[in-house]
Amino acid sequence: MAKVFIGVAWPYANGPIHLGHVAGSLLPPDIFARYHRMQGNEVLMVSGSDQHGTPITVTAEKKGVAPKQIAEKFHKINSKAISDLGISFDLYFETSHENHKKVVQDFFTRLLEREFIYKKVMLSPYCSNCDKFLPDRYVEGECPHCDYSNARGDQCDDCGRTLDPEELIAPVCKFCSSQPEMKETEHFFFKLSAFQKDLENYVADKDYWRHNTKNFTKNWLESGLRDRAITRDITWGVEIPLEGYDDKRIYVWFEAVMGYFSTSKEWARRRGEEDKWKDFWQDEACKHYYFLGKDNIPFHTIIWPAILMGYGDLNLPYDVPANEYLKWGGEQFSKSRGISIAVPDVLKKYDPDQVRYYLSINMPELRDADFTLEDFIRRNNDELVSTLGNFVHRALSFTHKNYGEVPKVKELSQQDKEALEKIETQVTEISEYIERCEFKKAMKSLMELAHFGNRYFDARAPWALLKENREECGTALHVCLRIVKALCIGMYPFLPFSTEKLWVMLGYEDDVSSRTWEEAKTDIPSGQSLARPQPLFKKLDIIEAPEKIEPEKAKEEEAMGVDALDLKIGLIEEIEDHPDAEKLYVMKVDFGNEKRQLVAGLKTYYSKEEMQDRKIVVVMNLKPAKLRGIESRGMLLAAEDKSGTVSLLTPLSDEDIGVKVTGRGLETMVPRKQISFSEFQKIKLRVGTIIEEDKTDMGDKKSGVEGGVSSALSGTQIAIYLAEGKEEVIPLVTESGGFISLHKPVANGAEIK
Ligand SMILES: [Zn+2]
Ligand SMILES: [Zn+2]
Repeated sequence: MAKVFIGVAWPYANGPIHLGHVAGSLLPPDIFARYHRMQGNEVLMVSGSDQHGTPITVTAEKKGVAPKQIAEKFHKINSKAISDLGISFDLYFETSHENHKKVVQDFFTRLLEREFIYKKVMLSPYCSNCDKFLPDRYVEGECPHCDYSNARGDQCDDCGRTLDPEELIAPVCKFCSSQPEMKETEHFFFKLSAFQKDLENYVADKDYWRHNTKNFTKNWLESGLRDRAITRDITWGVEIPLEGYDDKRIYVWFEAVMGYFSTSKEWARRRGEEDKWKDFWQDEACKHYYFLGKDNIPFHTIIWPAILMGYGDLNLPYDVPANEYLKWGGEQFSKSRGISIAVPDVLKKYDPDQVRYYLSINMPELRDADFTLEDFIRRNNDELVSTLGNFVHRALSFTHKNYGEVPKVKELSQQDKEALEKIETQVTEISEYIERCEFKKAMKSLMELAHFGNRYFDARAPWALLKENREECGTALHVCLRIVKALCIGMYPFLPFSTEKLWVMLGYEDDVSSRTWEEAKTDIPSGQSLARPQPLFKKLDIIEAPEKIEPEKAKEEEAMGVDALDLKIGLIEEIEDHPDAEKLYVMKVDFGNEKRQLVAGLKTYYSKEEMQDRKIVVVMNLKPAKLRGIESRGMLLAAEDKSGTVSLLTPLSDEDIGVKVTGRGLETMVPRKQISFSEFQKIKLRVGTIIEEDKTDMGDKKSGVEGGVSSALSGTQIAIYLAEGKEEVIPLVTESGGFISLHKPVANGAEIK
């Protein structure tokens, strides 16, 4: 039994993982891990959320929340998405965990003792306007290598080279666009140059590396290794284990790679076998595979090996099968049809195996691959459903109907023998491909076996044979089921959900995952009763599908929902006429811990007396605006229907002032720091009347209500939010769960603004 260690590049916890992550670095190692477990090998597969660094802090600052909040939120979302996709990590950890920090600080201390880390004063970009240093993504400018004008301080997205912030030409501050000055600051450096010779020797026998991995690494080595700053002027990250560096942290890239090791230790600790990690890290026979996208190559073939060499006594990467990129077909996209490439969104629409199949057969192994929804649907329908699903279903349902069990073999014809040989050769070929990390070829080879199965079934024509010779027909069907069994085991690493179902249909009572790979070639027991076959794969409707998938950026802009709003209950304490505007009131509104001045154009609809002391709902994070010279800090919400009736929103039951309001189920979301009026207008808020249990009338249609509503409230008008692509409407509720109602009746479907 061999041991296999599988490290998977750590996704940043600043957004949901998307299909690019799946094709690039998550699916390949999962196929590899599942295969090796079936081979009886001991596998340890680890990764986790990269929660540090400027990608997290930039996102957090944009949203006006603490980095920890962003990191935790997306760790949760991504852990779930990964498990829903069937990616079988032994542990998916997080870098903000104390035990990860301990490992990083131990590495730091030992490398410092061995003089592979030293201190040096350097010049670093500093924004005097923002009064801070600009590490990594805080600064943008021209790439010194390829002239790309939007390179970031840590990397150029165009040529893929890693950069140090001070290398950028014409740098600007990401936040205020002013030109930074160069200011002295003391940092720790990793003596990468000391490992030049050792790394050259290490790479020398890696002929089996992918062309791209080899090339990237060779280029780095040939241009000579430079020492690199491994700390940053930032306060989010792993602390430097020395006195006097409170305002600096260890550079995210230096510590994230150590996550492979910290996670292995944590995995062992959680199993209650503290030293178990040694089986994988100190047994030289254990091969280490690292799966990642091409932009991460040098960190895994140069920096991480150098760190490991400096630390000593730990296994180095054996192979680093880096993938190219998965791209989204062209520029065209369609948000309105509700498609996004974020994994949680994709899995709402498609089965995990449909996604896994497409990304396996279209894996960007040697060159970039294009993802178009059209192609995804076509391949699902033509290949998964019509080739694999069709063969399996024909073989199983014909046998189930006419024999009810796996028929006996009477005498094998030449044709039958050839079919059994075909299983043997295909299965051998497939294992060779998987072991070489050529997953696309392995999947093609599997599909070839499915094609062969279809041809064999047609050639043997059991529907005719059954009438002539029941025993010979049984023999042919037995061979068919052998092919199905081989496909089931062979496909398991790729399609773990459907193959478990198929295994049961073949009459087995255990899980296919508990079987060995070799059993793909062995016989199926005659007389084993078959379960009623069900279709394994779903056909997808091509007409409903948009042609293209939207790019990420556009999604981010449009994805704003009611959770972006910071809504609170306030009490109108004072109300006066605006001195210079006929239709405007100026109000002082109390929110408990603060009071704000609001201006609203309600004079035509409400008298001052009607509004005085009323509880209202206010958008707190709307960009402050001056209305005829008087500032309004926030906006109260009212509904207006087509007939021109206007009504204030007010809590249905008595609520405390200052209480938060949001869409039901969205309570954990963090509102944006500030939103513009035009952004607010894109959020669809409406009025509906509760008509019966769980239903509301919106005027033009009746909809279910997210989370339900009691029929005791029939006839009550409430404020609701229409989420993009969602059947049910989401009611606005206070922290205590109370509905938001209307001060006076308006027509159903009235807009809230
Ligand atoms: Zn600045
Ligand atoms: Zn560049």
